[in-house]
Amino acid sequence: MIFEHDVVIVGAGGAGLMAALYAKEGGADVAVVSKLHPLRSHTGAAQGGIGAALGNEEEDHWLWHAFDTVKGSDYLGDQDAIETMCQDASRTIVELEHYGVPFSRNKEGKISQRRFGGHTRNFGEAPVRRACHAADRTGHTILHTLYDQCLKNNVRFYDEFQVIDQIMTPEGESAGVVAYEILTGEVHTFHAKIVCYATGGFGRAFKTTSNAHAGTGDGMAILLRNGLPMEDMEFVQFHPTGLYRLGILITEGARGEGGILRNSEGERFMERYAPTVKDLAPRDLVSQCIYKEIQEGRGIKGKEYVHLDLTHVGRDVIEKKLPEIAVFSRTYMGVDPLKEPIPVAPTCHYAMGGIPTDYDGRVEKGNRGDVVPGLYAVGECACVSVHGANRLGTNSLVELVVFGRRAGMRMAREIEQRRDTPRPALPDNPEKTTREMLESILSRTEGEPVVQVRNDLQKTMMDNVSVFRNEETISTALDDLQEIRKRAHNVVIDDKGTQFNTELMDAVEIGFMVDYAESVAACALHRTESRGAHSREDHPKRNDDDWLKHTLFFSNCKGDYDFAYKDVAITRFQPKERKY
Ligand SMILES: Cc1cc2nc3c(=O)[nH]c(=O)nc-3n(C[C@H](O)[C@H](O)[C@H](O)COP(=O)(O)OP(=O)(O)OC[C@H]3O[C@@H](n4cnc5c(N)ncnc54)[C@H](O)[C@@H]3O)c2cc1C
Repeated sequence: MIFEHDVVIVGAGGAGLMAALYAKEGGADVAVVSKLHPLRSHTGAAQGGIGAALGNEEEDHWLWHAFDTVKGSDYLGDQDAIETMCQDASRTIVELEHYGVPFSRNKEGKISQRRFGGHTRNFGEAPVRRACHAADRTGHTILHTLYDQCLKNNVRFYDEFQVIDQIMTPEGESAGVVAYEILTGEVHTFHAKIVCYATGGFGRAFKTTSNAHAGTGDGMAILLRNGLPMEDMEFVQFHPTGLYRLGILITEGARGEGGILRNSEGERFMERYAPTVKDLAPRDLVSQCIYKEIQEGRGIKGKEYVHLDLTHVGRDVIEKKLPEIAVFSRTYMGVDPLKEPIPVAPTCHYAMGGIPTDYDGRVEKGNRGDVVPGLYAVGECACVSVHGANRLGTNSLVELVVFGRRAGMRMAREIEQRRDTPRPALPDNPEKTTREMLESILSRTEGEPVVQVRNDLQKTMMDNVSVFRNEETISTALDDLQEIRKRAHNVVIDDKGTQFNTELMDAVEIGFMVDYAESVAACALHRTESRGAHSREDHPKRNDDDWLKHTLFFSNCKGDYDFAYKDVAITRFQPKERKY
């Protein structure tokens, strides 16, 4: 079938829903196509908070927030985009509240705010309370509220439709997407004037991750395959406190409420590495410190984890402000955080890089302003770039709503301007590549199951391209990925049916995973310095002379790739050495 709309948004997390709401309010006919039911999007798992300098608990300013974000990004974030985000953040929180997000309250009845890593008062003096939250279920409340608003505004939803390909005209204009309807096994074309990707992150490329199973980076891989670049893919965030072995997240809000990291000697080791902000240092630093403690033999019981101690924080704080992580800890580890410390280790959490966009969400081919007609991206799959080499906690949720809103408004304006022009003509047989790919997977009778290939991909990325990397380890991963790509294109599945064939979608996703995993490894090898979350053991220093620039990665997704660069936008804050 062919579905026709002005705007098709791929993804129904916080970014996609915010963009949908604003595009719809601006008068466009908007459809949201999502492989999951919207309320199962990963935004619903966000725990700790959304950052804005409301100053409800103590003095705060958007400029301090902007400075912290720039410093947190290890000076790779684009400062014009960061200023836009931090200036707009407070207004956006108030708007979310008016939409119905039930934020937690302080004693004065204002929105409660707590400390988070890297957020400081007066340009680095001491931690500041900036993270607005709804207990430790902040993302859940935002996702539900935005979904309600979209339904109320008659946004059209296509739930459990998985987008597999992007449709481009020969002139390089976006004309729609091809999607697989999971319930029926049918392939459909969505013909649209504008397509906006909001497909989230790719944590599933690593063995230990806080991300949901659906975090397989589909949107990024689809655009890579269509010849578009990815920006700064080497920067992958490992959150310091995942439950040991499981990777399930324990929010940074736990340290924001007073939690402390301790090594096998009971020492509060972050005091040594970051004397001013201690356990509230940014994530890149804390994760690196945890691994150093482990490497130097101070992991708990000689194993690869440390302790997150909340025993002194008090029942009241845990029950009111951290109820969910208390449940996680009891359920999955059998540890009651009121009585015992929680075993934690770094877990793959967030993709700083992604589809390059301007700060209205328009996808760029290379240089600034060189936009792809009719193509947008927002949220974790996009790279604006407000996070540079390392994202601060609470800055993703705020990015989703600030840039989701901007993209929504921009799309509505564009539709208004193009009101009298028809949709770009569809090429002949736009579903051909997708149908051939699905047919070839379904008809294969010999090969490996997806799970083996996926395990090997996750293992090589985890072992070789995680918190610390060097030329040798990354090259190993790249070699492995060449092999894994061949295997991924020859997987065999048992289910040959048409209804809810999730195994077939797993087989499609493993193909996507190889393509963007290669971009992460190739960019990590290419950048011969250490910056933010990209820590090269063989190039331990940051090198602004050669590397104060964004990487753009182009690939034919068959093993050949190329790099280009983009300048970093610097407005107020000149790069300095980062100390906390
Ligand atoms: C456990 C956890 C806790 C977090 N806590 C915080 C926090 O406290 N504060 C903070 O700022 N950030 C936090 N983050 C980060 C933040 O939640 C995410 O970066 C953000 O929610 C991503 O939102 P999104 O809208 O970009 O994508 P998602 O919410 O991941 O949604 C992606 C959407 O894309 C759809 N999709 C994907 N592929 C396809 C396809 N091929 N076809 C159709 N649809 C597709 C999915 O169905 C889904 O609807 C946390 C992340 C995790 C994992």
